[in-house]
Amino acid sequence: MGMDRREFLKLAGITTIAGLGGMTASTALRKGLGEASQVSPDPRALVGKRWAMVINMSKFKTDEDHAKVINACHSIHNVPNIGEPRHEIKWIWKETYEHAFPGQEHEYIEEGVKHKPFILLCNHCDNPPCVRVCPTKATFKRSDGLVMQDMHRCIGCRFCMAGCPFGVRSFNFYDPRQFMTKENREYPTRTKGVVEKCTFCFERLAVGLKPACAEASNGAMVFGDLKDPKSEVRELLRTNYTIRRKPELGTQPSVFYIVGGKNA
Ligand code: SF4
Ligand code: SF4
Repeated sequence: MGMDRREFLKLAGITTIAGLGGMTASTALRKGLGEASQVSPDPRALVGKRWAMVINMSKFKTDEDHAKVINACHSIHNVPNIGEPRHEIKWIWKETYEHAFPGQEHEYIEEGVKHKPFILLCNHCDNPPCVRVCPTKATFKRSDGLVMQDMHRCIGCRFCMAGCPFGVRSFNFYDPRQFMTKENREYPTRTKGVVEKCTFCFERLAVGLKPACAEASNGAMVFGDLKDPKSEVRELLRTNYTIRRKPELGTQPSVFYIVGGKNA
């Protein structure tokens, strides 16, 4: 890692030590902040019961719109640019409708939708198969719905990659630090041999910030608490028809898509 273990734990705890009144880093990584009953969480922390995202694809109009959210995530999280598709590392990326939503395509889908690049990321599934198959509990689900990845517990067996039916996990075949042009010293780099993915920006939620992609999206990606009937995500789900990836698998993704169409 670019930082040593102590520094990482400090960050993983997110400002932890200072912001969470002595809560250990590992506790902060593993728990939703709302659970941290014996300690005082950072008063700025966003607290939710089931975090979710609604992505309004009609608001993605240009390549630049996609690039903005991808770069926002990858730059702050030190995601390397390997430049080799087989070994690429991606936390958020774009994909065609038919690859994003196999089985939900049909011949009458509006052309603009069929050929539009969709933004994909970890779905933070409510019933995540990746968690069930991880032998070391490096990947785990917090009570606020975030599906996390503890890089220090990951042994690189890649069971989670086989378990995830959405292809959202990446394996570091190389030392990722060689492929970074600029390092964000506030976020840990990873090593060769571990799996990584989107964590719904747990480190930002802990200090009251929305996920970086949502912040960069100009309102196209809305983040909020699915269990709060007054949240913006619930309002969007009430007023729009949305779809999720591979619903037939029963993983219950927490990422919803307003697909849009010609008139959107
Ligand atoms: S999308 Fe994949 S990695 Fe993310 S929670 Fe669901 S099964 Fe796990
Ligand atoms: S929620 Fe955070 S980690 Fe996940 S894709 Fe968005 S910016 Fe990246």
